[in-house]
Amino acid sequence: MDLGIKGKWALVGGASKGLGWGCASALAQAGVNLVMVSRGAAALEASADGLRQHGVTVLTVAQDITTPAGREAIWSVAGGPGKNFDIVVTNAGGPPSGDFREWDREAWIKAVDGNMLTPIELMKATIDGMAARGFGRIVNITSSAVKAPIDVLGLSNGARSGLSGFVAGLSRNPSIAKHNVTINNLLPGAFDTDRLKSILQSTAEKTGKSVEELAQARRASAPANRFGHPEEFGQTCAFLCSQHAGFINGQNILIDGGAYPGAF
Ligand code: NAP
Repeated sequence: MDLGIKGKWALVGGASKGLGWGCASALAQAGVNLVMVSRGAAALEASADGLRQHGVTVLTVAQDITTPAGREAIWSVAGGPGKNFDIVVTNAGGPPSGDFREWDREAWIKAVDGNMLTPIELMKATIDGMAARGFGRIVNITSSAVKAPIDVLGLSNGARSGLSGFVAGLSRNPSIAKHNVTINNLLPGAFDTDRLKSILQSTAEKTGKSVEELAQARRASAPANRFGHPEEFGQTCAFLCSQHAGFINGQNILIDGGAYPGAF
């Protein structure tokens, strides 16, 4: 399917690997030029090189996207579109798991900064330009934990729920929505990425269970009985960014192999 977005510019956060990379890859396949962001320069360059094979322009910004300086570097990257992105995929690392008794104010501020305020800052910088040009697609990578909170991921549950509430309002703001600008949240269940591996590893250390035993139980918690792949996550993201998805707005879309048991 031609997604109708060839030649557009996308900003993708947390793009060197995992779900962000999946989105960047699918957008590059659709002919979209990219600004890819993550902190580690070597992995980012390697991933960008891989995506240039699709014949698109791929720029890299090796910065922490959760900081004002990191975001300034994105807007001023040489050869980039400034703040005139057509597509923005917000993403960075998730907060650590743990016991809520151990989280102080600093831990909460960091989680809210990374998983709520950073996406809001990225939207604030780009959305009016999208509306003025009559096309915009914003996809926030959040978590299935927004719909089905996981006790040890309290920092994530809290910060991302704040983002979801904000997006529910902003996406329906007439000054945005009537100009063909959409904002949707993609809610991953368990995907086979380094983050999932590190969560399984730390749970194994705490519980004494083996990583494989924990992985098997986690796979079995979804009717699909497997982990998701970043590629399939990315293709869904690219569709939401396509010309065809202009009537999908303000939604929280689960990609979890059927793990969430509710009808709605
Ligand atoms: P991942 O495989 O660990 O990849 C994270 C990516 O983000 C890397 O490219 C990393 O590169 C980059 N990154 C992290 N912090 C950053 C920062 N401050 N600034 C810029 N780039 C940053 O993680 P993932 O599994 O793709 O997860 C992506 C998001 O989805 C996370 O928020 C995670 O909590 C959420 N999620 C994942 C799952 C899952 O099963 N995988 C489920 C639910 C929710 P650098 O480290 O080099 O910066």
